Amino acid sequence: MRDQDCLFCKIIAGEIPSTKVYEDEWVYAFRDINPQAPVHVLVVPKEHICCTDAVDGSNSQYVAKCFEAVAKIAKAEGLENGYRVINNCGADGGQTVMHLHFHILGGVKLGEKMI
Ligand code: AMP
Ligand code: ZN
Repeated sequence: MRDQDCLFCKIIAGEIPSTKVYEDEWVYAFRDINPQAPVHVLVVPKEHICCTDAVDGSNSQYVAKCFEAVAKIAKAEGLENGYRVINNCGADGGQTVMHLHFHILGGVKLGEKMI
């Protein structure tokens, strides 16, 4: 189910352009418009789930499918030395788009500190 006002639902529907890197029945992935690393991909479920806080037994399969996609995308992007997956949740977590998404950051040796 989509949310009519959601930016990422509009991207998934093709109503707002994006640079697609991967898509299947469950997941859509595209390049972040403001990359924080040489590779910065956003992996989003095709179901509108607002955030990690809303994940439960009814929708967690989307999360599993997102992580299956992460592994495929990392291989396709040549991130054989590793990468970081980040999820921001809610205001204190720094989430700005309220549609669950996972950032894949890589292509460079990232700092050891998480924040
Ligand atoms: P977050 O702060 O975790 O909610 O991440 C939202 C991310 O979406 C940010 O890294 C933005 O740069 C990215 N973003 C916002 N609008 C777009 C867009 N139209 N296409 C691609 N990425 C976007
Ligand atoms: Zn959405």
